[in-house]
Amino acid sequence: MTTYPTTGAPAFRAAATPGASRTRVRAAVLSAAPGHLEVLDVELDDWLAPDEVRVRVDACGLCHSDLHMIDGELPVVMPTVPGHEIAGTVEGVGAAVLDLAPGDRVVACLSMFCGSCAECRAGRTFLCDRRNDLGRAERPVPRLVRDGQPVGQVAGLGGLAERTILHRNSVVRVATELPVDRAALLGCAVLTGVGSALHGAGVRPGDSVAVIGCGGVGLNVVQGARLAGATRIVAVDLGADKLEVARRFGATHVVDAAAGDPVAAVQELTGGVDHAFDVVGRQATVAQAVGMVRAGRTAYVVGIPPVGEQFVLPGLPLVTSAKGVRGLLMGANHFPRDIPVLADLYQQGRLELDALVSAWIPLDEADEGFAQMRRGQATRVVVTFD
Ligand SMILES: [Zn+2]
Ligand SMILES: [Zn+2]
Repeated sequence: MTTYPTTGAPAFRAAATPGASRTRVRAAVLSAAPGHLEVLDVELDDWLAPDEVRVRVDACGLCHSDLHMIDGELPVVMPTVPGHEIAGTVEGVGAAVLDLAPGDRVVACLSMFCGSCAECRAGRTFLCDRRNDLGRAERPVPRLVRDGQPVGQVAGLGGLAERTILHRNSVVRVATELPVDRAALLGCAVLTGVGSALHGAGVRPGDSVAVIGCGGVGLNVVQGARLAGATRIVAVDLGADKLEVARRFGATHVVDAAAGDPVAAVQELTGGVDHAFDVVGRQATVAQAVGMVRAGRTAYVVGIPPVGEQFVLPGLPLVTSAKGVRGLLMGANHFPRDIPVLADLYQQGRLELDALVSAWIPLDEADEGFAQMRRGQATRVVVTFD
């Protein structure tokens, strides 16, 4: 068994009674959508349920699904703390957590799982049936309150805060040597992107791949295809800058969708690809992905569509060319297995993470970080804490 050095963080002594005492922490709170994040003081329970872990947040990446919530395109109960791409340090563990200890570095993932439902038993923990039962909803008191009222944590994580309490099956330990800003990205963008190629689509050596949308997740689909041994990897996006970055992640060809019909360009380059990934999640790009795959192959939707988005596809060619269209969720991950593997690949120089981070900001600027993302300026913005 691998042993990991600890950072020597001061141990936190959990309270004996739920809600008896609370620690004041600063958090970016969303109170209405569409709206803005406001950095406020909230109170974190000092008690830990047996299966909970208290984590000091060291870094939290900003993700497009959080942006969708802030913009009112994904429903969420208010008020709430967004942020689900977390690297942090364990400060305390509940009585039933035997394999984590104060000082451990952990990465969190929103694919929290129970470990005992039919999906978990079948190895599909990312589809856990009981995920919604694992938070504090059924417990004696909320984890977070402000002015006596509960404050939610998006995906049970709430990472845009100085500290948080997490279910033990939403974190995995990683080596303390990993830089926290890059470790955080392993929890969503990298896991989702690389996993979509490896576990979702099962890309094989020699396959051809097209990836539409080269943001934080799309670049990781590109490098997932590279890790799988794909020999033709076509990156599609608007503008030369993003496409240049995609080459660094493993794209062998690039197509600027602003310069002409991207479907025709991919067909001309490859004769049709074995796997096309739409990392945008909109009608137009899903239709393009379907147009890019060869007969009998599948187009995958990786990007999270806003609520209400419809995918309308030409029916006859879909059937006569026997094409598939399939949604992929969170890279079909089993994150306790996958995140340490990704960390090892990074430490061996085989996974590109350094070029993913386009900006580091303090918590106070989280709302401006999302604004940068809305303007399409950012690859990945990471909030770091002193
Ligand atoms: Zn995400
Ligand atoms: Zn389960």
